[in-house]
Formats: sequence, C-alpha cells, structure tokens
Amino acid sequence: MLQRVTHSHMLHVEGPLLTVDVGTRETQTTNVDDILESFIGGRGVATRLAHERIPFDADPLSGENSLFFTTGPMQVSTMSFTGRTNCTGVSPLTGGLLSSNAGGFVSRNLADTGYGAVEITGESDDLLAIHVSDEDVTFEEVPDLEGATVPEVTAYMADEHDLSEEHTACIGPAGENLVRFASIMTTESRAFGRGGLGAVLGAKNVKAITFQGDSRQDVEIDPIQMDVHREAATSDSLMKEQGTTNVTDLANEVEALPTRYFSELSYEGVGGINGEAVGEKKYKKGTCSSCAFACKLPTKDEERGVETEGPEYETVMAFGSNCDVDDVVDVMQSNELCDRYGMDTISCGNVVAAYLQSEGEFGNTELIFETVEKIAHREDVGDLLAEGIDRFHEELGVENWTVKGLSFAAHDGRTLNGQGLSYAVATRGADHMFTTMYTWEYPLVSNEEALSKSGLDGKPEFVVEQENARAMEDCGIVCRFARSFMTPERFEALLGEDYDDLLSIGSRVVELERHFNNQRGIDRDDDDLPYDLPEFEDALDEYYGLRGWNADGTVPDDHVADDSVAAD
Ligand code: SF4
Repeated sequence: MLQRVTHSHMLHVEGPLLTVDVGTRETQTTNVDDILESFIGGRGVATRLAHERIPFDADPLSGENSLFFTTGPMQVSTMSFTGRTNCTGVSPLTGGLLSSNAGGFVSRNLADTGYGAVEITGESDDLLAIHVSDEDVTFEEVPDLEGATVPEVTAYMADEHDLSEEHTACIGPAGENLVRFASIMTTESRAFGRGGLGAVLGAKNVKAITFQGDSRQDVEIDPIQMDVHREAATSDSLMKEQGTTNVTDLANEVEALPTRYFSELSYEGVGGINGEAVGEKKYKKGTCSSCAFACKLPTKDEERGVETEGPEYETVMAFGSNCDVDDVVDVMQSNELCDRYGMDTISCGNVVAAYLQSEGEFGNTELIFETVEKIAHREDVGDLLAEGIDRFHEELGVENWTVKGLSFAAHDGRTLNGQGLSYAVATRGADHMFTTMYTWEYPLVSNEEALSKSGLDGKPEFVVEQENARAMEDCGIVCRFARSFMTPERFEALLGEDYDDLLSIGSRVVELERHFNNQRGIDRDDDDLPYDLPEFEDALDEYYGLRGWNADGTVPDDHVADDSVAAD
C-alpha cells in the first residue's frame, strides 16, 4: 500500500474548488487544501476530486458526470514546457475516468482565476457559455452559437466579450452532437483530444467556458526554470522543425507505423507524409504559453488554400498511412476539419480508416473529407461512426482496434512490445502518452537507455515506473516533451519533494483512476489487446503484483481508503 504524502512545503496548486452547476446555475466554493497538498495539481487533484464527487455509476453523457479543469503549480511560472491544462471526467468512449491534457495558452488564464480546480457539473436546458473570473461566474445563453465551429466560437468571444482564443475552451458541432470522440478545443487548434470529453461538455449543453482574472497564485519557483528555458531555446531538436513527425521514417523502418486500418505495419507512401514533408509546410514558429522549445507546427499549402496546425505524427498515421493517403496536404485538410469541428484526430482518423476498409475505398480522399463532416454532424453513416470503433465494428465487419474502447495511437505494440503492454493496462485505453514506452523501444542513437523492442521481459516494472512518472508530470503540469530537460533532480528542486515521494503521488493517481474504473466493471478482462504478445498473461500478473493489486486487475479498497476521505 502506498504511503500518503502530505507535505505542506511541497509546491502545489492553491485556491478553492469552484463548482459550477449548469443545471441550477448555482456555484459553490469548497476548501480542498488537503487534496491540493497531497496531489500537487493537474491530473492528480482532478482525479482525486472526480473519485470523490462523480458517482461511480454516472452516465458519462448526463448531468451526474463532471468535468474538472485544473492547472498545476508550474502554470504560474514562465518556465518552458508548462503551457498545459488538464481536464478530467468520465469518458463516453471508454466508460472509465479519463484525463486529457491540452497545450496552448488557456492554462495561464485558468490560473489567473485563482481557483485550485474548476468543476463543471449538471445539465443545462439552454445552450450556454460560462464565464469564470476571479470576481464572479456568469451564465450566458448563446442560442446563436448552436452548431458553430471552433473558429466561430472563438470569433464570437473576441467580438462580444473582447476575450482572445487564449481565454476560451469550447466545443464544435461534434461535441454538441455527442460524437463519442469529440474534443474540447482551446486556442483553436489545441485539443483536450482523447476520450470524448467534448461530448461530455455537449451533453451539459455548454458550448464554451472562458477564464480570466488577476488572482494568480504567488509562488516562488526555483531558478532552475531559467536553465530549462535557456536549454529549450538553444536546443537543436528536430522537433522544432518537424514536431513529432520526425519519428515517422524510423517508425516505418522498424515496422511500427499502422497502415491501411492496422492491416500492415509500414507504408510505401511514407515519403509523402513524413517529417520532411510536414516540415516543408511549416511556415512560422508555433508554441504553447512561455515555451521556448516551440515544437508546434503551423502549416500552410498556398496552392490548395489549406492552413492548419500540424499534423503531428499520430495524425499522419490515422489520416495518412492508416487511410492509405500519401499526400501531406490531404492529411493537413483532415487535421483542419477535425480542429474546426472539434474531434480527436487519432480516433476520428482511425474510425474513417475502418470505414474505408469496410467500403473497399482506401485512399479515397474525397470520401475521407465527406465522412469527417458526416461524423461531426451525425449525418447518414456518420451517426454510426460517431459511436466509435468499439461500438460499430461488428456492424461494419471490421476488427476492433481499440483497448477499452479507445483506438490505438501510432507507435504499434506488435513491434514495440512494451508499448503494447502499456496500451493494454493504461486506464485511458490505447493511449501512447500514458507511459511513452515507445521512446525507450525505438532504436534511437540518442537513447542510451534503449530497451529491446521485442518481448516483455523486465517491462512490467518499467511500465509501472513510467506510468508513475507520467502521472506525476501531469500533476505539475509539465509537457511530455520536456523529457531530456526535466531530470529527477530538477523535479525535486522545483517541487520541493524527494523524487521517490513524487513518484508515489503519481502511483496513487494511477490507482485512483483504476479503482474508479473497477467500480464501473473495468478489470483484467479489459486489459486486453487485439493481438498476441509473448508471455502477455505472465506480464499482466507481474504488473498487478508490482502494484499490489488483485490478480483480476482490481485495486484493493484499502489502497485508496486514505484518498476516499471527504475534503473539508
Ligand atoms: S514542448 Fe511543444 S507541446 Fe510542449 S509546451 Fe512546448 S511548444 Fe507546447
């Protein structure tokens, strides 16, 4: 059983929980200092609050579900890699508790409200925009925004409220239409992408939330932040030119690039969609708040008039190789449509790939664009596809390429076996960010700690360590791409706590997520893959054993007893 860490000297988010009930239009503030001191911020605080406040049997698309928006203590700093915001709720795609983390700039404005966490609960009869500031909360009926796209909502906030896209989190038509993989968008092209939290907001009849204020927490952050900033600014990482697509050729070479709806593992057309192809379309620098690493990808194709941000590697897979599309401009166009309508590009691309397979239409770009539109508006076949692969695969006669209902990210576990194990056990489903195991399994020259990509020997322990580390970073909140900059020593210096204790906080977050999911009937049977891995069942036993969980993949109740105590 994990020890509870409640150290008042540890850096953590401050401020009360603000609960906004959109059904009654009432608000409440609650002192949750105990939780903030124990869980730092971000995903930890939101998970702990969700575990206590969302009924275990809540329908994700009902007023009983809540969304928790949180920042970490780093979001009041100007350190690179901290332009991130967390959102947590029960996913309509997986049925489990799910945290999603978006970049952009809204984190600073959320921090400016002075709240430790903001909970959106209930269900409104009228379409609403909610304006949260450090002075009050206002509810605005916005019938004219019904069906509005993400850029249209952003323009409305600018015109009517003099608020920039950096203050706004919103949904497009997909969220309103309860597409199960709808995202919540911020800064137009940044997404709380995976798991359909946009549909949760849509079910509440909330089109947008804005954050502003002047009550940012006053904290002292170690001078290390300046070193991190300098190193980020001077780094010669290829990510600055190509974003995550710099890995595309390598993934293709080692056969980890899903192709034609996961039926193959490398793509003959990779040259048209790889890092170089994406880099050529990048026309200016793009970043998140205060981040000198600036790995984002504003891209443009003058000839076709396509402008977007990205695609990142995951989108290159989902709308590129997995759909048999070898022209980066076509992938950019799909990316732009998903951002405009508010949908996760990974899930949407995989859904479209499944549909293309069922129709025998791989590579048909016109059909792809048309299908994305139909999904967002739930028109014709789009109504079925909007339910996600797990719910429609039988009707379409395609394989179910999901774990717990979440479709696969691009780093294929059939080649990167530790990543495969991670996909199987992750509370979020087939999500690469839960551990980023792939980064240790690719044969990278710079990766001195590289693991063999084949087999699961020794990997359950590694998965546990990485899950804990990623969960802790999500409490901070520190971007995944800070890996080579944020050493354990730096985390200790910044957060004022021993690294082992910080990891134990991460571990408790993973446990709380799984315990919540267990109460919803999710267990070992759901830690499953649509393919075989060597010694997989033994690896599962080892993973549960290392965490002290039951052999059926459930968390003993006494593990979370301390964390189930109600807050003040
Ligand atoms: S590294 Fe990239 S994604 Fe992460 S905060 Fe910086 S710009 Fe944003």
